[in-house]
Amino acid sequence: MIIRGNVSLKKYNSFGLEYVAKHMVITRTEKEAVSLFNGSVHLKRPTLIMGGGSNLLFTGDFNGTIIIPGFRGIKTEEKSDEFVIISAGAGVLWDKLVEWSVLNGYGGLENLSLIPGLVGAVPVQNIGAYGVEARTTIVKVKTISTHDGSVRFFTNDECGFDYRNSIFKNREKGNYLVTRVYFRLKTNPVPYLTYGTLKDEVTKLGEPSLKNIRQVVINIRRSKLPDPAVIGNAGSFFKNPVVDNNVADKLKKRFPGLPCYKDRQGSIKLAAGWMIEQCGWKGKRIGDAGVHEKQALVLVNHGKASGKDIFDISEKIGQSVLEKFGVSLEREVEIV
Ligand SMILES: Cc1cc2nc3c(=O)[nH]c(=O)nc-3n(C[C@H](O)[C@H](O)[C@H](O)COP(=O)(O)OP(=O)(O)OC[C@H]3O[C@@H](n4cnc5c(N)ncnc54)[C@H](O)[C@@H]3O)c2cc1C
Repeated sequence: MIIRGNVSLKKYNSFGLEYVAKHMVITRTEKEAVSLFNGSVHLKRPTLIMGGGSNLLFTGDFNGTIIIPGFRGIKTEEKSDEFVIISAGAGVLWDKLVEWSVLNGYGGLENLSLIPGLVGAVPVQNIGAYGVEARTTIVKVKTISTHDGSVRFFTNDECGFDYRNSIFKNREKGNYLVTRVYFRLKTNPVPYLTYGTLKDEVTKLGEPSLKNIRQVVINIRRSKLPDPAVIGNAGSFFKNPVVDNNVADKLKKRFPGLPCYKDRQGSIKLAAGWMIEQCGWKGKRIGDAGVHEKQALVLVNHGKASGKDIFDISEKIGQSVLEKFGVSLEREVEIV
């Protein structure tokens, strides 16, 4: 276990914000993590479990302990003619797992290529991209209780997955540290190419193989999204709002260009990025806090913005969207 004091968070958050954590613990084994919570180790509270820090907005120093699960390892647990169950430690880089699955010919994760962060955050966030959500492949999640160090498995149903949401993000927030995630992947992959221009782009490369799909997703993402190593950001700052059909119909009459998508429960998902753009925010900046020039859903740190600057601009954007469209935006990024 690595324990450090007064740690600069700059390289631990994708906004590149200069704050300090009073304590940081990096656990290498599950046994070490258990000892953090069963009373063997005195933890300075409050605590925050963190992965790659790619969905967090720090607004000040963290005066407690940040815990980073560093568990590695990808394992094949079970294999049949149709599927394979694999598991990965919470500290594995998500995109390394996607790459591994594609190289092994296992289908299900390829559309989720190049999403930053670690495996442990994947069930917390129920990450999604190009028409696929992590929930469709997660079988179970191994956790440690942050109250007494006991081990508990959550089945897919028990995780309460929803759009960028799970019980780990709301009802059980902070109560469990995810140690391993188990995925069920297809050994005879079926490509999922219905989202946007994915099919056309894959066809240009050739057959819809896992490798080609992964390559296209990587190419599209690199062309559209800012690289946090170059300009600080946390991907989509807001969720796409989900509204009833009648609300969507009324909005569509007033704003015919508004992109609307059918949601799982039959409601309608509205494109938050389009609404933000219509309010004139795309490419705008207030000091060093800004809205990305290619993707209005992404807020960026042009260099010296504080977490408060980014939070403030997000408030102003939310206000503009509410005034113009009567729709409230919910943040996807967590404020710390
Ligand atoms: C450029 C860019 C593009 C992005 N694109 C997408 C995208 O297409 N789709 C998408 O869904 N997201 C996207 N994101 C957001 C982000 O990558 C995901 O939310 C990712 O899963 C966060 O992983 P992380 O390890 O960085 O988590 P963190 O930001 O460190 O943490 C996120 C949350 O998970 C909790 N957490 C983390 N690890 C654990 C653990 N082991 N146990 C319990 N709780 C834990 C934290 O407490 C926090 O609440 C993007 C971000 C960036 C910067």
